[in-house]
Amino acid sequence: MAEDSVSIRRFQDVIRDTFHEKDATRGIGGTFMWFTEEVGELARALKRKERDRDELVVEFSDVFAWLCTLASMSDIDMEDAVARYLSGCPRCRAIPCACGERTRFQDVEPAE
Ligand SMILES: [Zn+2]
Repeated sequence: MAEDSVSIRRFQDVIRDTFHEKDATRGIGGTFMWFTEEVGELARALKRKERDRDELVVEFSDVFAWLCTLASMSDIDMEDAVARYLSGCPRCRAIPCACGERTRFQDVEPAE
């Protein structure tokens, strides 16, 4: 473990400071395409018979960086956003989640 941990907010800030100009010209649609490309690369890394830990580190961090970029472009603070999971499942409030598997990712509030 690294001794100095990085907060989600600090990570999102660094990603924004590093890439914002390029991201702004690409727009959210183009940026989302890049994000899905990275998700595909992560899928390929996970599917390998012999998983390469170094490759997984790269792919997980790339996916998270692109996710943070999309959040920044949408004025979403990821540290605030993930807080909804800190006191348990957002739906049933339990740790571990007591929801049925089929309801796991449904909205807590009824969809419109
Ligand atoms: Zn639950």
